[in-house]
Amino acid sequence: MSTIDLNQLVTWRRELHRFPEIGWSEFTTTARLITELRNMGLEVIAGPKVINREFVRGRKADVVERGLALARERGVDEALLAEMDELTGCMATYDTGKPGPTIALRFDIDCVNVQECAIGEHVPNNEGFASKSAGLMHACGHDGHMSIGLGIAKWLVENGSSLSGKVKLLFQPAEEGVRGARPMAESGIVDDADYFLGMHLGFIAKTGEIVVNPNSFLCTTKYDFRFYGAPAHAGAEPHLGRNALAGACHAATQMLGISRHGKGMSRINVGVIRAGEGRNVVPAYGELQVEVRGEDETINSFMAEQVERMAAGAAHSFDLRLESEVMGEAVDLQNDKELIDLLTQVVGQYPELTAVPERVFGGSEDATILAKRVQRHGGKSLYFIVGADLKAGHHQAEFDFDEKQLATAANLFIGCLQKLMTK
Ligand SMILES: [Zn+2]
Repeated sequence: MSTIDLNQLVTWRRELHRFPEIGWSEFTTTARLITELRNMGLEVIAGPKVINREFVRGRKADVVERGLALARERGVDEALLAEMDELTGCMATYDTGKPGPTIALRFDIDCVNVQECAIGEHVPNNEGFASKSAGLMHACGHDGHMSIGLGIAKWLVENGSSLSGKVKLLFQPAEEGVRGARPMAESGIVDDADYFLGMHLGFIAKTGEIVVNPNSFLCTTKYDFRFYGAPAHAGAEPHLGRNALAGACHAATQMLGISRHGKGMSRINVGVIRAGEGRNVVPAYGELQVEVRGEDETINSFMAEQVERMAAGAAHSFDLRLESEVMGEAVDLQNDKELIDLLTQVVGQYPELTAVPERVFGGSEDATILAKRVQRHGGKSLYFIVGADLKAGHHQAEFDFDEKQLATAANLFIGCLQKLMTK
């Protein structure tokens, strides 16, 4: 059984907690990770080597620019920023030099649009490590995930010589909105992986509970649809206008009426509609933010095809130009039994931990895209939940978790590595 230095994990987590960055703007965070990992002696790649630009989802130019400007203000090395080439995230490799399996571990690095609470009892406030960025907070525990990844990296460098094979530590940007995994998968960096392991802290489980096979991960696709028409005076020349508001509205009501798939659960939400400038102007622009979900890929694709067709149909009806953009996506999760059993065994080594066989997750998480990519190339995948008592739920201003579970999570990963890489 490995023993990991909890104090070091807590120190890293608290440093990272101070500087939360929203998806695709994690330049300061990525630079810290690269520096830390290279100082340990690991080979690290970043930027276009880990993110396939063609598949980048939901990345806004102004958010990227602000992230870059802030990184420069904070004195981040220009050479590192050049290496990132406007794309965040990185991957460190630990190679034993001996033949053996390649194992990919994934940690997400972005924060949430939440203003951290000001109350004194909130640990980040009374211990002085609260977010320094207004309106941004590590309120989903990804600061913890990164520190777990760093802890495993350090353990490998110090203790990994008896193992065989290779470990790839992926630090994935833009998990929120399920945006970063697809372009990371499309870079090909997990295509040689025999095993994939990912995890979340504190969802659906208390301290001491390890959910070894969470289920009901929903496949999802997020869209922005933009309708472009032509403005006109609503009284004098309405016939010259092309009404983008009408197109957006028609598309929205049709989407909400999609027939449900008979083979399983599905969801549709039109969350935002924006159109119009003034009462007496034919609206020239309309926008919809839509998401569909499905129990599996077939059902989700069915929903996705319907909304795409309805957007195109409404645009055609009102003679509008349509721009469609996929803003995020995730798939379902099918953990491999070999790895469920392996983790259950590792959990069994710790008397204070209980392996919970199954529990409903009920949301979406884009680690599933990396997990599935590995499975499609013949590898095996596992995503699990490390319980951690919370002060408040995820994405809330008072969110905080039991920091001792950072060591639990790192030890579980290491336990799996030891079993997989000792043959
Ligand atoms: Zn999260």
